[in-house]
Amino acid sequence: MMLHPEIESLDRDALKALQARKLAALGERLGASPEWRDHFAKAGMHPRDLAAADGLAHAPTLEKADLRARYPFPMLTVDVSRVARFFATSGTTGLPVLFGFTRRDLHELVAVQVARQLYCIGVRPGDRGYQGYGYGLWIGGPSHELGMEKLGVTCFPVGPGRSELVVQWLRDQAWTMTTISPLFLAHLVRVAREHGIDPRKDWALRRAIIGGQSVSRAFREQLEAELPAGFRAFNTYGTTEAGGPNVGTACPYSHDRDEMHLINEDTLLTEILDPKTLQPVGPGEVGEIVVTTLDKEASPVVRWRTRDLVRVSARPYDCECGRRGMPTIGRIIGRSDDMLKVRGVLVFPSQIEDVVAGTPGTVKEAWQIYVDMVEGTPESVTVAIECEAGYAGKPSELADAVARSLSSRLGLKVPVECHRQGTLPRYEAKARRVLVKERG
Ligand SMILES: [Zn+2]
Repeated sequence: MMLHPEIESLDRDALKALQARKLAALGERLGASPEWRDHFAKAGMHPRDLAAADGLAHAPTLEKADLRARYPFPMLTVDVSRVARFFATSGTTGLPVLFGFTRRDLHELVAVQVARQLYCIGVRPGDRGYQGYGYGLWIGGPSHELGMEKLGVTCFPVGPGRSELVVQWLRDQAWTMTTISPLFLAHLVRVAREHGIDPRKDWALRRAIIGGQSVSRAFREQLEAELPAGFRAFNTYGTTEAGGPNVGTACPYSHDRDEMHLINEDTLLTEILDPKTLQPVGPGEVGEIVVTTLDKEASPVVRWRTRDLVRVSARPYDCECGRRGMPTIGRIIGRSDDMLKVRGVLVFPSQIEDVVAGTPGTVKEAWQIYVDMVEGTPESVTVAIECEAGYAGKPSELADAVARSLSSRLGLKVPVECHRQGTLPRYEAKARRVLVKERG
């Protein structure tokens, strides 16, 4: 199940030696860039210090503010004329940030990284691929297309949307694999049924690589049950800053444990760090994914803080698939910006959402977390929910049910207030679920 066994089966020490050689070369390249020299000078360093054994561990991290300060082509290490194509981050606030890709970055780096991921989940030359991610400035669509081409998959680049056409072509053209958002694939299954198409019988899909959102194992298993026998949906993870959807992919073994390999560690060095101390976390612990691109020519990053949190596997190395040195991590559990640590317990809004949404009688879109801060530290949290207008029981019973589930899910007692439907705030765009109250 390895496209590049000579690399993918290396043990951890061999991979680290390879990374060290590439870090030294990266330092040389960045040393030629005034912007990168300035950036490293903030930590009293020169990019060439990346050649030292502890160079990376002391290098400054890179954040959105660093990039915004260098508008319009932040940290671009080649002349704009050498950039074949720009991609951009989605930019929910402010202007999108541009990342350049040379021809080599596109065809010999991203294409190879993604082809390796597709091969890992069981895609093979001759497969027929429905590419369902978006195009334009977003890297999702074009990068998967490049990976399919590199591997020898026949690509049908419809992108997202045109659901009625897609559900029909999935049947008539017998597409066998797809790169797609899990929510859109679930939508296609519904649309197919409405048009008298039974995905289980009428489609030929056998593999999907799903990313864009992190979904629970329960969601994935339900999806798999609605598609042809043998179909499997594998999680994937990446970011534009890292150069694509190239960071994590599940192999068949880690898939069963709801985990992914950091599968391109020869070209993409990943650190999992405590978001406060920036020290590496150990097996079984939660940390933030921080990435360094080792081979990227245009717009490389060194210690880019993704803000995405994951749990490192209890046993991160020597997977049964033969990948010995490419560690395994859990699925993305939240953003470090949203993480709360209450009396030593990590709490994510996504966990509270799971409980509220999973309790019958609650209004799914209306809930809040109130945090009581004492001297800058969360002392307690209270969750507010709404009771559906037609709920048969008492509101206090609904509050108790949610409180019991929260207690077992989080290992923390959380008071729950239940309000009448329509009383809590509604949000049109991004919800502000966590509201902070400072005391003392
Ligand atoms: Zn594996």
